[in-house]
Amino acid sequence: MIIDCHVHLYPDAAIADPAGWAAARGESRWAAMVGPRADGGASLQGWANEERLLRDMDAAGVDRAVLLGWYWEHAATCAEQNRFFAEVVRRHPDRLEAFATLHAGAGIEAVRAELARCRDEGLSGLGELCPPAQGFGYDDPALAAALELAAEWRWPVNLHVTEPAGRAYPGRVETPFLELLALAARHPAVRFVLAHWGGLLPFFELNRAVAKALANVWYDTAASPLLYRPEVFRLVTQAVGAERILYGSDYPLRLYPKHQAEPEFARFLAEIRGSGLSAAELAAVLGGNWQRLRGA
Ligand SMILES: [Zn+2]
Repeated sequence: MIIDCHVHLYPDAAIADPAGWAAARGESRWAAMVGPRADGGASLQGWANEERLLRDMDAAGVDRAVLLGWYWEHAATCAEQNRFFAEVVRRHPDRLEAFATLHAGAGIEAVRAELARCRDEGLSGLGELCPPAQGFGYDDPALAAALELAAEWRWPVNLHVTEPAGRAYPGRVETPFLELLALAARHPAVRFVLAHWGGLLPFFELNRAVAKALANVWYDTAASPLLYRPEVFRLVTQAVGAERILYGSDYPLRLYPKHQAEPEFARFLAEIRGSGLSAAELAAVLGGNWQRLRGA
C-alpha cells in the first residue's frame, strides 16, 4: 500500500488564475510561492486538478493520498479550502483523505467551530500549518485549542518546517527548532508530522534529550529532491529509525525541474526505492507507517 501523506490540491479557479485568485483573497505569500521565480526561471509549481491527481496516482501505483491544506494568511481562505476538500473526499473516500487548515487569528471559538464542521464533513487531520508564515505564534491560544481537539480526535497535525541553515527561496521562513520542541512537549498526545524532513531536525535527535522530547513526532519527505541529497533517506533512517519517516511528495510541485515539465509521482518513488533502504523499511516508509499512525 503506497500512501502519499503530503499532496496539495486547489480549486479549479485557483489553478486557472493563481495570481488573480490569490490577489482577490489577499494571499500574497502563496502567490509568491507558486508564481514565476524572481530569477526569471519557470516556477517549481506544477498544477493538477482532482482528475489529473487521480490519473497520476494510478500511473505510479499510489493507492492513497492525503490532501493538505495550505497555510493561508486569512481564516476565510482556510474555510474556503476546507469546504473544497470536503467535496473532494466525499467524491473519492477510497483514494483521498484531507486535512483541515486554520488561521489562529480567527480566535479560539471560531477555530473550534470551524474544525468541528470539518470533522463532520469528513476531514481527518490538521495542516499543513506554518505559524511564522501565517502571522501567529506557535504559542497562540487558538492554535493550542486546535491541538487539543486534534489530540482528542486523533488527528495528525502537519507543520511546514524549513531548515535553519539553507538557501533563500520563495516562501522561506525562519524555523525555530526550540519552539517546535516546546510545542511537541506541550502537546504530548498530538501526533505531529514535521514536513520536509523537519528541516533536518531528525539529526538533532542524536541528542537523547531531544529524541525524548520528539517521541510524538514523525517526519515527512515532501519536496526532498529539491532540498536534499538522496542519502537523506538512509541517514535519517539511521538517526531516528524508518518507522518515524512518512512518504510525502508535495505533488504537484515539480521535484526535478530539469526533468519534469509536469507533475508526476513516479520519479521520486524510483529515487526512494533506490535509496538503499531494506524492503521492510521501504514498506514502512511508503505506507505502513501512515497506517500505523492513523490506526494507533
Ligand atoms: Zn510545506
